[in-house]
Parts: sequence; structure tokens; C-alpha cells
Amino acid sequence: MSNLAPSRNAPSAFDAHHPPSNEIIEKCVHCGFCLPVCPTYVLWGQEMDSPRGRIYLMKLASDGATEMTPNWVSHFDSCLGCMACLTACPSGVDYGKLIEATRAQIERNTERSPSEKRYRRFLFETFTQPERLKRMRLPLLAYQKSGLQAVARASGLLKLLPKRVQVMEALLPRLRRTEPVAEVTPAAGTKRLRVGLLLGCVQREFFPQVNAATARVLAAEGCEVIAPRTQPCCGALLVHAGEEAAALELAKKTIDAFEGTNVDAIVSNAAGCGSNVKDYAHLLRDDPAYADRARSFSAKCKDVSEVLANLDFRATRYPLRLRVAFHDSCHLQHAQGVRSQPRALLSDIPELQLAEIPEAEICCGSAGIYNLVQPGAATAIGDRKANLIAPLKADVVATGNPGCLLQLQSSLARNGQRTQVVHTIQLLDASIRGIEPKTLLK
Ligand code: SF4
Ligand code: SF4
Repeated sequence: MSNLAPSRNAPSAFDAHHPPSNEIIEKCVHCGFCLPVCPTYVLWGQEMDSPRGRIYLMKLASDGATEMTPNWVSHFDSCLGCMACLTACPSGVDYGKLIEATRAQIERNTERSPSEKRYRRFLFETFTQPERLKRMRLPLLAYQKSGLQAVARASGLLKLLPKRVQVMEALLPRLRRTEPVAEVTPAAGTKRLRVGLLLGCVQREFFPQVNAATARVLAAEGCEVIAPRTQPCCGALLVHAGEEAAALELAKKTIDAFEGTNVDAIVSNAAGCGSNVKDYAHLLRDDPAYADRARSFSAKCKDVSEVLANLDFRATRYPLRLRVAFHDSCHLQHAQGVRSQPRALLSDIPELQLAEIPEAEICCGSAGIYNLVQPGAATAIGDRKANLIAPLKADVVATGNPGCLLQLQSSLARNGQRTQVVHTIQLLDASIRGIEPKTLLK
């Protein structure tokens, strides 16, 4: 770290637009309690790839003791933004706010290589536009249904493709028929709540069965479900990658889409999206036209497990004889503090056996676009998680985020495990509908 020698009175490397807060940086007492839960520190054992090291790097840049050099940036690019350090920190250091501000500074003030820029633009334009993902569905479905995917994977042909294409191909989920959610799904029986449903982007096009299951379960529990057609991507991927300006536009459009729906809660079934929409109040704090609206929007946002765990259940649960390993998504457990609710919902299903995955606080390596832009680290972290799941001998892994679904399924397959990964709500839906586990998992 010789390039980080203190320099007196040097200007901050950050620009004046919301730099990482010195007040938060100063709260770090360097105790290191966060180190054992940080996936990159666990992998590499390097201080500068730990939360404490990254906070130190922020301080150096803030004090003008370093520029945002490529080496400095690399330690933030390698951070998953998983927020395990936030949960572990006894001093209440809000690392989430620090990394979000740092990433926005990096994207505004440093230059990525032309190929990196093109790749990132492609990812953002694809994964934040449901219409684009929809257009990709048919050719991808044909690729899978024709048997071409099986041949390409078995023959090793895929190794001839560029590395980035190989990474995306390995993450492709098994696509199923579309199951669009109606704009209004009536509550079964007496209405208890009127809720808005965030459909997501990847969830909407790659996991339509999860959105359909969410609407059915909410309706079965007495919720009228409103899913506005005009809702765009919520901008989670952009916020987590430092693309602040584009993220703000999507946040405003999302608020517009739900305004006037008069719902009691806005429900998300994708942990990354859920933590983002809960943070709109912070994201739009400077916008005079949206600050108040963002505050009341965020106050209504809930993960689907929070909404359901708060309602005394009304619909009968039929037995599901399954051993289920539950994976805590980082943006659910760390960013939203939601841990007990999904477990409570699964525990209510007769005959379902719940298994805890060791080191549950550590990320699976998905982290938004992390597994696409940092495939080496994501693969190593994913392999670690797959090896922790294997001894549990679970029939299925359940989780609450589409990114984790993709990452876990691909990590398990790479490690020779056939265990399927589903969203928690799909198990609840199967139990309420009395569906045989083998039908759900086929
Ligand atoms: S967010 Fe995750 S990867 Fe980043 S420093 Fe914290 S624990 Fe480590
Ligand atoms: S646990 Fe908190 S105070 Fe301790 S080193 Fe990590 S961020 Fe700093």
C-alpha cells in the first residue's frame, strides 16, 4: 500500500456529491469483528479485501492520501455489497451507506476500460428492462427445449465461447412457461389487506412461477393483490453498482406506478429489490418533488415473508414431505433484518423438515451482477456454499431472491449436486394447493 502514504492538506479524492460519510467512517474502531463473515476476506485473507480494510481505504481517499487508483478501485469492485459486515459490527457502522456512496464516486470519477464499460452497459440495459428479457426468453427456451443446451454442455463446446458468455450460460435457469400475474388478483374470502406486488425484472421473465405463487398465496391469505402493469425495474442492480443517476429515474417511475393504488403494503419477493425500495427515502432525499413521496413509499415496503408472517394463517397447509435447506439471502437477512419470518412460514408446513446451512451469514456469491463481473471470486464463494449444503442431504434448497436461486443452482450443479433450488413462497404455495413435491420439483 505504498501509494497510500498520507499527504498533508491534499484535497479529497471524492467529489462533493454525497461522498462516503466521514461520520460513519469514524465510527469504525478497527475491532475486526466483521472479518470472519466477509466472503472476500474468508477467501483471500487480505486486510484490504475486508470491511475494515475497505473502510480504511475510504478514509485515505477522503483525506486525500490516495487517488482512486485502479488498485484502490479493485478492492471495492471485489466487495459483494452483501452487508454481512453491517450485521456483525458491534459499533453500528453502516457499511451499506459507505459502499453505495463509494461506488457512485467510482462510477462518476474513474474510467473503466472500453470492454468493461461495454459489458457493464450490456448487463444494465438487459437486466433492468423486462421487455428485453422477455425478447430473450423465446430463443433461450428454444436453446433449452431443443436439447442444444444439453449437447453444448456435455460436449465442451461452450468452452470455445468468450468467458463472459460461458459465465452467463452457466447461470441460465431452466425456463418454464410464462404465468403472468393479473393486474388485480381478488382476495379469497374476506379481504384483510390490499397489497401492491413488485414483479421485478429477472423474477418476472426468468421465474414467472415465483410471482404467480406469490400472488396466489397472498390471495389465499386474504390479500387483494395489485400488480400495476406500468411498474418498471426498481433500479436495485444500478444502485448496488454505483449507477446513481439511472437508479434515481427508475425509483421515481416505480413510485409513480404505485401511486394512487391505495395499497396497505408494497410487497417484494426479491430480496435485492426489497432492500432497494425500502431505501428509496434515502436515495431520493435531495429531490423536492419526490422526497416525501419516497418516504411514504418506502414505509409501505415489505418482503412477502414479513407480510405473511404477520397474518394469522387462514388457508389450510397440506403436508410436504421434504427436507428443506434454507438459504438466507444477504439482502434479506443483513440489509432488511428478515430472518425469522421465512423460517416461520416453512415451519408451519406439516411434515416439512427444515435444515440450517452452516455459516448462514456468508453470501452465496450472487450479489446482483457480481457473479457476472467477478466470476472467479463468485465461483469460489459459490463452491464453498455448495460444499456446506451437500452434507445436509436436502431434497430442496429454499431462498428468497432470484439472484441466489441462479447462483445456488449453478454452484450445486457445478459441484455434482442435483438438489433443486426454489423460492420459499413456492413451497408455501405447493402446501396450500396440496401439490405433490415431485410435481413442484419436476
Ligand atoms: S459487504 Fe460483504 S464483501 Fe463487502 S466488505 Fe462487507 S462483508 Fe465484505
Ligand atoms: S466490526 Fe465494525 S467497528 Fe469493527 S472493524 Fe468491522 S466495521 Fe469497524
